[in-house]
Amino acid sequence: MDPNRKLRDLECLDILAVISIVIHGGGISMIHRIRTLPKGELHVHLNGLVERSVIIDLLRSEAAEETAAVDLENALRRNTPCANLEEYLAEWNVLRLIPRSRNSLRLMVISAFNQLQAQNTSFAEIRSSVIYISLLNRIKVSEALRWLIEEVENASKTYSIRAGVIMTVSRGNYSAENLRTLLVAYEHLGKPKTVIGVDLAGNEEEYTPPELAGLFMRAKEYHGLGVTIHAGETGNVGNIHRAVKEFGADRIGHGTAAGKSEETMGLLRDRNICVEVCPISNRMTGSVPASEAHPLVKFIQHDVPFVICSDNPGLHQANMSEDYLAFLEESGRPDLLETMYSVQKEHSFLRLIK
Ligand SMILES: [Zn+2]
Repeated sequence: MDPNRKLRDLECLDILAVISIVIHGGGISMIHRIRTLPKGELHVHLNGLVERSVIIDLLRSEAAEETAAVDLENALRRNTPCANLEEYLAEWNVLRLIPRSRNSLRLMVISAFNQLQAQNTSFAEIRSSVIYISLLNRIKVSEALRWLIEEVENASKTYSIRAGVIMTVSRGNYSAENLRTLLVAYEHLGKPKTVIGVDLAGNEEEYTPPELAGLFMRAKEYHGLGVTIHAGETGNVGNIHRAVKEFGADRIGHGTAAGKSEETMGLLRDRNICVEVCPISNRMTGSVPASEAHPLVKFIQHDVPFVICSDNPGLHQANMSEDYLAFLEESGRPDLLETMYSVQKEHSFLRLIK
């Protein structure tokens, strides 16, 4: 970036004083300053937000047999870059062995809110696949959804953090059936306001049934839910276009491939589709290799709307402030950290709640 601009910013922005502290070796003060910024979290998975110690304790007590041969300390740590998303997600199934009771789910949600509070988060959209909770606990999907909603609502009150639930489905043969099931459960519960959106996640190379796009569109148009799609995380720019044009995406998770296509960045900018940028996650999954600049630099240049999010901070052994710091290191734009909260509010699905 233009060094004079950096100096100009330095004169008027408090936070840049912090940068100079960092440059001169004061990283702890920098993190402290960032932590005090008000934040909204738009892309975080419940199981990836819970503290590792809580996850490991629950796995040891509730899934001892299944995890007997698993080195949990290492399996649940992604703080060095993986070769690809597949490697990053290799142990994700371990996280799906809990919670096996309502009380365990409560412990997980409380841990998640502790983490949000520590980062001065004032609102959060929390993602969960829900269906696996019903299978683990032998309860109906609507009951599992009710558990999750009630725990999130209780924690939201206790911590004074506004929160909503995004229902996630994973790509694959059963994705359409799973989304249909989740939407039926949502209707069965009387369309609770705490459910604010739907999300498609998982390996982008996996098959998805053709009717899936229409179901997402219906969730948006008929139910008024926000739509966010993990797309372009593994280099497939076509998935971003499909997400926007066929799935009705309001936001794109990661979208790193967009940085290589002016056409795609134009599409996102012109339709005001917000990219959920997860700086640390993108490095850990190999979505952005160490040899390349993060595409967020291009997003800034092309006026593509974006928010900074943390994805799976528990797995990364990091926190949202460290994602902000990673953003700063990639972009050199502290002014955008100062305005990030208002961008997060503008693109949050929580705004859909009346
Ligand atoms: Zn994600």
